Amino acid sequence: MGFNVAIDGPAGAGKSTIAKELAKELGYIYVDTGAMYRAIALYLLRNGVKAEENDRISALCKEANVTIQYADGKQIVLLNGEDVNPYIRTEEVGSMASSSSTNPDVRKQLLGLQRELAASNDVIMDGRDIGTNILPNAQAKIYLTASIEVRAKRRFDELKAKGVDCDYEEIKKEIAIRDERDMNREIAPLKQAEDAVLLDTSNMSIDEVKEAMIKIVKEKQ
Ligand code: C5P
Repeated sequence: MGFNVAIDGPAGAGKSTIAKELAKELGYIYVDTGAMYRAIALYLLRNGVKAEENDRISALCKEANVTIQYADGKQIVLLNGEDVNPYIRTEEVGSMASSSSTNPDVRKQLLGLQRELAASNDVIMDGRDIGTNILPNAQAKIYLTASIEVRAKRRFDELKAKGVDCDYEEIKKEIAIRDERDMNREIAPLKQAEDAVLLDTSNMSIDEVKEAMIKIVKEKQ
């Protein structure tokens, strides 16, 4: 088994931004499991599936073969061999990922890939159920969170910077819906693992969070 760092937390807590930088600094592979759920969601959307069509989701997700590759340290998600990175960051795909990830067949489909990556590499893996379910024996576990206001503001600023027209209250509402679904689903809900270190980043800069995380990982190495 490689050295495994599990990072979980709600949408917009800054997991991917920081995990990516941390991975570079430590020379580990960064595994963004949310992107895998998004790839399956994209496949479902392309096939005209609706979020509430659970049986179709169970059947169709089996046709979505998700694999990942790395190019210059960047994770590329392949859906049946196609690089889908350019298509998975939309709100529509995120929302479908949040709904379809409650389906046990979708989760089963990705579990093997995630565990295999962690078994053969030093990884920083982020998601919702990494410390609790995917890698219960990870050497370091961090639960990254922030208040909903701060998370909504970060997302709002990010979108504005990209020139996307958006509304703060609307974003906050979307995040609340996502939190509610991720934390209360039956299978592998988002929660802090008992042995995870809690980091509330509401009043921390990216550099402060990174420093705190490096300290947590180094203590476990
Ligand atoms: O983190 P990201 O926003 O890319 O994840 C999209 C959705 O995928 C989340 O809202 C969550 O419902 C789901 N997900 C999950 N388990 C993970 C990672 C993501 O259920 N390990």
